[in-house]
Amino acid sequence: MKDIFCRIIDGEIPSSKVYEDDDVLAILDISQTTKGHTLVMPKKHYDDFLSTPPETLHKVLDVAQRIGQAEMAILGAQGVNILTNVGPVAGQSVIHFHVHVIPRYLSGDPGFQITMKSQDIAAIDMLSLAESIKNKMEE
Ligand code: AMP
Repeated sequence: MKDIFCRIIDGEIPSSKVYEDDDVLAILDISQTTKGHTLVMPKKHYDDFLSTPPETLHKVLDVAQRIGQAEMAILGAQGVNILTNVGPVAGQSVIHFHVHVIPRYLSGDPGFQITMKSQDIAAIDMLSLAESIKNKMEE
């Protein structure tokens, strides 16, 4: 079964379009976490950031950057969160690669937060961890 973003791309479900070209679609997120919350996605289906080919990834990120710049200019946002979730464990609810562009405001912002907690790094062999990731990337 098609995911909801494929159905939007195919025109089966309405959306508030912010941007569209041959490869990329950007729409307002239905949840509007903050005013202007936008989703940028490739029209061709890829599950997530990690499985999207670099050329498509770059096109999506280019549009996300331009939307962030436009929103900073016209909405009075003082910052923006650019994020993408990979896998349900990371909060991905729609399995079709998309980037969230979430403008942030000094006032009137509902207070979306990403909190990164620290672990006890004494329990982690940081050098060997870094080395093993590096080695895998170079395979
Ligand atoms: P994620 O949880 O990272 O997969 O994000 C999926 C996002 O899609 C959520 O923020 C939803 O609010 C949004 N969403 C789901 N259905 C629609 C829809 N029909 N139109 C616009 N945004 C949607």
